Amino acid sequence: MEHVLWLDFGLFIVMLVLLLYVFLNNTVTLFLKVYLIFHSLLMLWPLCQFAISTTTEPVYQLLYLKASYIGLSMLGLGWTIFTIFLAGQSYYLNRRTLAYLSAPTVLIVLGVLLNPGSSFVAPMNGGYIERQYGPLFWVMAVVLLAYVVLSFAIMRNALGGRVAPRHKRQMKIAMKGMAILTAFTLADMLVNIALAPILPIIPGLTSAGIVVSIFYFVVAIQRHRVFEIVRIAQSNIVDSMATGVLVLDEHEVVLEANRVLRGLLDIRAGDRFEVEEFLAPLETEGSTEPFIEAYRSDPPASAQIEITLSEDNFFRHVIMHCEPVVDRSRLVGRVLTFQDVSELRMLVEASRYHNEALHERNRSLIAMQDELYQVNQKLEYMAITDGLTGCFNRRYLMQQLEHEVITNIRYNIPFAIFLFDIDLFKSINDTYGHLVGDEVIRSTADVVKQSLRRTDILARYGGEEFTVYLPHTNREQAYMLAERVKDIVAANRVGTGHNGESVAVTISMGVLTVESGQSALIDNPKIYLRDLFAKADLALYEAKNGGRNRIVAADLTS
Ligand code: GH3
Ligand code: MG
Ligand code: MG
Repeated sequence: MEHVLWLDFGLFIVMLVLLLYVFLNNTVTLFLKVYLIFHSLLMLWPLCQFAISTTTEPVYQLLYLKASYIGLSMLGLGWTIFTIFLAGQSYYLNRRTLAYLSAPTVLIVLGVLLNPGSSFVAPMNGGYIERQYGPLFWVMAVVLLAYVVLSFAIMRNALGGRVAPRHKRQMKIAMKGMAILTAFTLADMLVNIALAPILPIIPGLTSAGIVVSIFYFVVAIQRHRVFEIVRIAQSNIVDSMATGVLVLDEHEVVLEANRVLRGLLDIRAGDRFEVEEFLAPLETEGSTEPFIEAYRSDPPASAQIEITLSEDNFFRHVIMHCEPVVDRSRLVGRVLTFQDVSELRMLVEASRYHNEALHERNRSLIAMQDELYQVNQKLEYMAITDGLTGCFNRRYLMQQLEHEVITNIRYNIPFAIFLFDIDLFKSINDTYGHLVGDEVIRSTADVVKQSLRRTDILARYGGEEFTVYLPHTNREQAYMLAERVKDIVAANRVGTGHNGESVAVTISMGVLTVESGQSALIDNPKIYLRDLFAKADLALYEAKNGGRNRIVAADLTS
């Protein structure tokens, strides 16, 4: 058992540990899977070398030997695919290119498996511990070398293109690993196979090369975080964000400042960021005390404040937010975000301004509407009243009566109409002038209005002629009211403006009453009304003729 190659087994264990390390420390991506297959293939060699040494049975020895060479044959393909991924050209790998790429490997693997006429390997001294390699072995060696050359060409090509410096360094490390592996394997072939008769056997050469190269690959992967696509993507996202991001450790040292933040503040990774010092010269929205208190509080709390950053008279309103980073209830750092809200502020300001202007316009519109309403009211009032006396005018009364009269007649409601005229008014005008005449007309209207009921309508019929409509009024009530009006006018004295002199007038009146049962069917209310007033007018005329200052009943039947 002294032939047992513990060295190879030990190396296999080292590789297994490395494999587990890479697997546990990285996000599992397609690239990582490719690498793990590649790594496993590499591990097959020392394992099989070890296995051969554990048995004296030629059948098993050949089996292990074949397995180790199958692994080695597949290395070229595995390496090439790994290289393509590393060079960021995995998009080339469709089914056809994969078939072309793997065809030589498949043929070699078949050759090793079948070992036709011992053309790959032949036993020596009744076993495979010592062995004779045939032409197929050398074909395999050439094919492997061809894969290596192809991989180097891919790398060179990628390095010549537009690749990030970080990525270049990483590819170079991987290339070094591959070069070392190739060198060790070639040395193994040369020393232990080609020159075996002259030189002493050096065990574990290929295995050692494999381990050294694997170290290179692990370094390339770990140091440059190949598999941390998520992390890289995150940093890209943070850089392309519109919000400034500042990451501090627990000692206020800046770990990361994204692009927007670097444009906003003069700060770089490695600087110290003291929040008190930072805020002191700045204009802030409200006091900084509550913010700093929350910032420094224990247990840590999030905090927010609006600050104004100025640069060459250009002001930026920024919302600064602090979020503590806590690990197992211990503060390990802080994330500060800076959101530029200047535009938002401007928009809000503009919209507030617009709003105010709209409000103002609204107010003036409402005022205008109000004014219009008032004017309308006034116009309406003016349209239906008489300017001198303030009583309704004749047109209005006629309009009202057109409806009233029809209703009264339909429902047998009694009503009355007075028509009166001031007696000998011309002499007032002639004696005291028109102004006093006007005053007499106005005063007469006033006192008549006061002597009437609320529902009675007094209207100026003409110059000094008035009419009264009295709804729900029978003959007796009408005469009583007519007498009252006549007496009140007669008792009313109007000042003339001459030495305290005053004047009184009398009126003559025609009274018309329509009681239930008297009414005929009305075809046209206008004509009916005209007829009624003609009769009242006739009565008034009679009152004048009869000596004035009297009341005459109109004859409805005439
Ligand atoms: P009678 O008793 O027959 O009614 O005599 P009278 O003088 O009153 O005659 P009449 O009714 O025909 O005359 C009315 C006069 O009233 C004619 C006109 O000059 C005058 N008058 C009409 N309207 C006004 C007015 O608004 N103001 C003034 N001051 N006078 C008016
Ligand atoms: Mg008159
Ligand atoms: Mg008259």
